[in-house]
Amino acid sequence: KIQSECPPDVEELGRSTWTFLHSMAAYYPENPTAMEQIETAQFIRTFSKLYPCWSCAEDFRKFIAKPENAPRVSSREALSRWICGAHNEVNRKLGKQEFNCNLWKKRWLENDEC
Ligand code: FAD
Repeated sequence: KIQSECPPDVEELGRSTWTFLHSMAAYYPENPTAMEQIETAQFIRTFSKLYPCWSCAEDFRKFIAKPENAPRVSSREALSRWICGAHNEVNRKLGKQEFNCNLWKKRWLENDEC
């Protein structure tokens, strides 16, 4: 069975990675320590160099290099909204619908219907 499964394409890789990034943000501390903030910002920069879709990674690096788009790691709410904004940037580029970032918690942390 495992042998017949295919390597992920850009779409599957993307969906899985966004699930990870949004979930990481949703479970990030509400009041992170200074060290947690430094390490999280560093993780995002390292991620942008290793993400295995090279053109995606290059655009993501250009995005976070702009001062106004620097990762916001001061709290769970700030990081979740920042990742939402970064994802919307990709959504726009791909002609996909933008996500309403006020709904991040319902989508990625707690939803009474689920
Ligand atoms: P996805 O965009 O994968 O979204 C998954 C789910 O997340 C959605 O169903 C929705 O419930 C939720 N969601 C959507 N937007 C938001 C948001 N803003 N905030 C919170 N939740 C949201 N693909 C390319 O073809 N070219 C690229 O340059 C490219 N760059 C990428 C860069 C990064 C860093 C990542 C992680 C992925 C990138 N991708 C790129 C993949 C692309 O973003 C999608 O993952 C892929 O096209 C599959 O899209 P999808 O419609 O299944 O939903």
